[in-house]
This record gives sequence, C-alpha cells and structure tokens, in this order.
Amino acid sequence: MSPLSAILQVLFPTTCACCGEVLVRGERQVCLDCLANMATTAFSAMNDNPVERRLMGRIPLVHATSVYLFRQGNTVRNAVHAMKFHGNAELCLMMGRQMGLDLLSSGRFDDIDVLVPIPLHWLRRLTRGYNQSELLCRGIGEVLNVPVCTGAVVRHRYTRQQSLQQSHKRAENVEGAFKVKRADKLAGKHVLLVDDVLTTGATIAACADVIATVPGVRISVATFCMAI
Ligand SMILES: [Zn+2]
Repeated sequence: MSPLSAILQVLFPTTCACCGEVLVRGERQVCLDCLANMATTAFSAMNDNPVERRLMGRIPLVHATSVYLFRQGNTVRNAVHAMKFHGNAELCLMMGRQMGLDLLSSGRFDDIDVLVPIPLHWLRRLTRGYNQSELLCRGIGEVLNVPVCTGAVVRHRYTRQQSLQQSHKRAENVEGAFKVKRADKLAGKHVLLVDDVLTTGATIAACADVIATVPGVRISVATFCMAI
C-alpha cells in the first residue's frame, strides 16, 4: 500500500479494521458482521463480576467492568490492534461510544462525575499520536454526557509495554509510574478510570492507588476488554 493510500485508508476507510473485508454503504470502520461477532461480557450490569474479583482488595473500588472479551485471534483482538498499533483514532472513538451504550444500559454507572483515561508517558503519546484510552473516554463521554479529565493524573516514568512483560513482572514495571498532578480536579468525585485492555490489572491498580489518595474520591473502572 502506498503512503497516500494508507493515509486515505485511515481517513476514509473502505475496509473493515477488524477483518479487512470491503465496507458497504452505511458501515463505518468495522463491518456489521464483526460488530455483531464481538464477544461481549455482560459484566457491566453484574455485581461481583470477574473484573471486580480481579481488582477487589487491591484498590478501593465502587464498580468495575470490561465490555468485551479479548482472545487470541478474535474480532476484539483485531479491534485492539487497530486502535493501538495501526493509528486508527476514529475506531477508538467508535468503540468508546459502544462502551458508553453498554455502561448506560447497565444502570450501575449512573453517578460517574468524571472520566479519567490511564495516561500514557508523553514520549509514547508522541510516537503513537494519541492516547487510545483518552479517545475511548471521549466516546464514552458523548454517550454518558460526562466530562473527560486529562492532566489530573500523569505517567511520569517511562515504562516498557506491559504486553511485553511476564505477568509477575507487570506490577513491578508500573510501580511508581503515576502521579496526581491536579488533585483539585478529582476531589470529592466519582472517577471512572478507563483503559483499553485489562490483563493482570497491574496498570490499573498502580494508577488507582495514586488517585485514591485524593480526598473524597470514589473509583470505578471500565476497560474496553478483558484478556482471558
Ligand atoms: Zn469485519
């Protein structure tokens, strides 16, 4: 593919970001088949769901959910790759809106005051061009009508990609990576912390740990998908 066609493909995609099939009229980014085949979890409406069990006891938590299931070779995995590594920002927004609809219909995330994406280190943000979790937040925010807050929490230490780390090294890798910069923006609020993939939960736990130091804050978590 020439550089020009690659740019045109991102701006005006003609093929599905997940399966590569040609999109037909009315389809955007992802074909209707892939959208219908994305493995949903139904966790959002469920108390004591597997995401809450994975995080409970490690961070003070109100509710937690992952909207989709990530498996090797499934459509959700392809969507994550397109969002993270293929520069598909529009897909992040679209998947954020899907998450928003799921959270809205669950009725358990109705009192969220602010959406906080897991921050990227500025260097990684620069090389990727955007923070995929921030774009997911923007999509969620459109549906829930809740503001997105960036800059209140920062990632001040550059860490290796969590996906390249062995499970037992992941907590160590992100320890001390986050810092609250603007506590006033989060104080007394119910924060929904948003990330793309939940694996061991080490990144979310490290970030939630620092947010929990803000007076009066309550924390819920939503990720696009959970790796099983
Ligand atoms: Zn498709």
